[in-house]
Amino acid sequence: MTLDTSNPTIARPIVLIVDDSPDVHRLLKARLRVEDLDVLSAEDGPAGIEIARQAHPSLILLDLDMPVMDGYEVLRTLKEDQSTMNIPVIILSGLQNAQDKVTAFDLGAIDYVTKPFDIAELKVRVRSALRMQQLIQMLSQRAQIDGLSGLWNRRYFDTRWTEEVSRGARHGRALSVAILDLDHFKSINDTYGHPAGDAAIQGMAKILQAACRQSDVACRYGGEEFVLIMTDTAPKDALVLCERIRASLEGTIWPMHPDRRVTISIGVAGSAGACDATPDAWLHTADQNLYTAKKSGRNRIVCSELPTNTTGKLRAAG
Ligand code: GH3
Ligand code: MG
Ligand code: MG
Repeated sequence: MTLDTSNPTIARPIVLIVDDSPDVHRLLKARLRVEDLDVLSAEDGPAGIEIARQAHPSLILLDLDMPVMDGYEVLRTLKEDQSTMNIPVIILSGLQNAQDKVTAFDLGAIDYVTKPFDIAELKVRVRSALRMQQLIQMLSQRAQIDGLSGLWNRRYFDTRWTEEVSRGARHGRALSVAILDLDHFKSINDTYGHPAGDAAIQGMAKILQAACRQSDVACRYGGEEFVLIMTDTAPKDALVLCERIRASLEGTIWPMHPDRRVTISIGVAGSAGACDATPDAWLHTADQNLYTAKKSGRNRIVCSELPTNTTGKLRAAG
């Protein structure tokens, strides 16, 4: 299962048609135009596979009998590739015999429509496949989202963080991570009740989402702790972003306790270029900085820069 890095929303579906007949493309494009979807076209197997990898369509309509690479081979290739294996495929084929259908289903097709097809029937099959795909997408997103805050959850963070650390190291890109922990949060719960505590967690989540860019990844790490991945962000810029978050929370008036402000302490670890540190080492540094922020009075940020490695420095220089 590949990691979904988009925002937790359901996008307009894309349907990819892979067929060597221009007539089929013309007909389907005209008839599917009224549906709430976008259509992409490929006139042979290799082009279809390439588009599937790039565009991640919600559904593929695949012809079997094509020159260069037949539909079975296309299907096999799609199912072997992590990035395309979960895309549902409906076979559109002139081949009528049972063995062709069995082979297609065995290879992972979800449906088989014989040509010449009835357009009304094909449309309902497309709609039904897209409904199922959206449901699966929703469920898989929900399993990665924290119920209280609406942010990505710890499970999502763990996988994404490992990916971002290796991406940063591989491409020599800047990367920063912040661990954020609400101050004296137990006393908010104890004084104003658990719902007031929950409201503060939700309010903090809104501040995080408003403050960060599309490419940042805001997660609830657990309890009253959050973690923010800032891609392509050097520590000095991470510090500016975190200061905005800190100040915004400090300035917030809470309806359930207007006289009591909520503050947060933040530990940041960042690198301006390629860095050898393991994902755990990054988090350990950020966590130590958080501890220092707590010890030295709370409502503050402590940030440190991890050393860039020699290869990274060479790459940056050259
Ligand atoms: P510090 O400034 O040192 O971080 O102190 P603190 O009181 O924030 O830290 P501590 O770890 O002692 O307490 C965290 C509290 O957060 C205790 C726990 O009941 C509360 N908490 C954790 N998750 C939730 C939640 O989902 N909702 C609410 N309302 N409270 C939560
Ligand atoms: Mg805590
Ligand atoms: Mg705390």
